[in-house]
Amino acid sequence: MKYLLEDMTWTEVEETLKKKNFVVVPFGSVEEHGPHLPISTDSDLCYAIVKKGAEGTDFLVAPIVNYGLERSTRGFAGSISLRFETLKQLVKDILFELTNQGFKKIVLFSFHASSTHLVALKEAAFDFVQENKKVKVYLVSSMDLGGQDLLKILETPPQHACELETSLMLYLKPEAVQMNKAVEEYPSGTPFLVYPSGREWMKTGVMGDPRKASAEKGEKIFNLMTKRLREILTNIQRE
Ligand SMILES: [Zn+2]
Repeated sequence: MKYLLEDMTWTEVEETLKKKNFVVVPFGSVEEHGPHLPISTDSDLCYAIVKKGAEGTDFLVAPIVNYGLERSTRGFAGSISLRFETLKQLVKDILFELTNQGFKKIVLFSFHASSTHLVALKEAAFDFVQENKKVKVYLVSSMDLGGQDLLKILETPPQHACELETSLMLYLKPEAVQMNKAVEEYPSGTPFLVYPSGREWMKTGVMGDPRKASAEKGEKIFNLMTKRLREILTNIQRE
């Protein structure tokens, strides 16, 4: 049974909508991930987790939104951020289009979990449901998929381009990881200061210790996160 919108024709989508009207919209980012991981890291991980998590549920999966809003990694080559208002309007446009076609429950799932990015998504959803009360919009992020079990797998706390993200990449897309370039950094800037660019308080673009990563840990993390996402989607389905 096809469930990825990108693989379906319009007639297949229309036919499926007669039986299933739930959809997940995945969000990644275009953002530096240290000297050892590609710019596409968040988007790669997001789409892999959503595809696996939604498989066999009543949810269709919309094509991923690769661009997001990044603050802390701004200034590194290759990081491309949308402005808050741009992201908010983009999300509202997607919600409007999906609703017009008959989708009734829409889950926004973001792997990229920067606080400002998530607020833009939430504000878009909030504005949207004021005027579209028959549609339910949910916001889930990668931070909702781990909990204590995730910390049991990891030796260092999950941050950015860290043990967690590198392990997932080693499991899902090993050819894209340059472990010989992985370095540890725990950047700390001046407290309370608002920086115009991440390069002013961080050297490598890493927050954490990716040297502790392994494909074995990545497999366990992937299984845990996709299982949790599936539980969340199944609960939403039943409501
Ligand atoms: Zn990331």
